[in-house]
Amino acid sequence: MRSQDYDRLYLSPPHLGRHELNYVHKAIEDNWVAPAGPNITGFEADICAAVGVPYAVALTSGTAAIHLGLILLGVGPGDEVLCPSFTFVATANPIVYLGATPVFVDSEPETWNLCPERLREAIVDRIAKGKKPKALILVHLYGMPAKLPEILALAQEFDIPILEDAAEALGSEWQQQPLGGFGRVGVFSFNGNKILTTSGGGALVTYDRALAERARFLATQAKDDAPHYQHSETGYNYRLSNILAGIGRGQMELLPERVKRRRQIFDWYREHLAPLPGITVALAPEPAGSRSNRWLTTTLLNPADPEAAPTAPGATPETLRLHLETRNIESRPLWKPLHLQPLFAAAPMYGGAVCEDLFARGLCLPSGSAMTDGDLRRVKEALAEALS
Ligand SMILES: *Cc1c(COP(=O)(O)O)cnc(C)c1O
Repeated sequence: MRSQDYDRLYLSPPHLGRHELNYVHKAIEDNWVAPAGPNITGFEADICAAVGVPYAVALTSGTAAIHLGLILLGVGPGDEVLCPSFTFVATANPIVYLGATPVFVDSEPETWNLCPERLREAIVDRIAKGKKPKALILVHLYGMPAKLPEILALAQEFDIPILEDAAEALGSEWQQQPLGGFGRVGVFSFNGNKILTTSGGGALVTYDRALAERARFLATQAKDDAPHYQHSETGYNYRLSNILAGIGRGQMELLPERVKRRRQIFDWYREHLAPLPGITVALAPEPAGSRSNRWLTTTLLNPADPEAAPTAPGATPETLRLHLETRNIESRPLWKPLHLQPLFAAAPMYGGAVCEDLFARGLCLPSGSAMTDGDLRRVKEALAEALS
């Protein structure tokens, strides 16, 4: 079984601490084995404290949080929702659940997130075509803050509410403000591969008390206030279990440490891969004001820098990935842009050259916070072999 393959270096495996089990133990002792209980309340309070927002709702996944978040922003059948093309499919799937259409926008090369110029083009063009986008999903890919001042200004100018998909960006900051609190609704994921995990889980955060209450209502089958089971709207079963929230409480204690280690790993790769020909650690340095949690360290082949050594002929992200695999090391291409996915072949797209190029040249390296420097050396040596 893969999980017992101790020699294998995974991209971003779960990294548990010493206190998760205490919270889980207590939940079982007290019979709080339900989607309600003190671990949920505690986990939500921990998230509020870490993100600096007044309300958090713990949910079964980040995808569920995006789904509810879009409902809170009024998205429904026939609406259009602006969304970066360069992201994980879970960002866009909930748009489709609601019968709405994603309108994809290219990245800019500095942070790889939504390009403000293409975004303006998209908004102006959609309005000219007769439909103002109902919402904008803002993603901070690999933990790197998007161009917030420009994007927030556009959202304000056109009065389009933002759902901030911070699934990969827990612990990242823009001008000392934690990401996740910049939209009307923010979303986190606690999936097994994220910087913190509850095995599976997510959270929705907001400054708006009414929105938080509505999220809780919708997440528990939209039960009206009555002694019997009374329902006036369609609800969902999206609340996190009190057991998993216990894991979350233990994990939240570790957030600063986990960010610190991911950042060290990024810096290690940056220093030690520098002599290798034809590969660069990407998204470095951070733009002024940005602090990334460095969830995954990403690299690019064939560096654009004319001073950099060229990549050996024939070497591609896929040949590197296959070579690392022979050394029992997991690596992955960057996210495949959504406008290139068969699923979204008919969706409108603004720009595309930037994210297509990133996908063609990029590779994510093992970045789990439990990695030792010995593990990092193993990855470096395997890359050196592949690039020689
Ligand atoms: C992981 C992820 C999600 C979805 O979170 P789940 O908890 O796996 O449902 C959404 N958006 C992005 C950018 C992600 O990386």
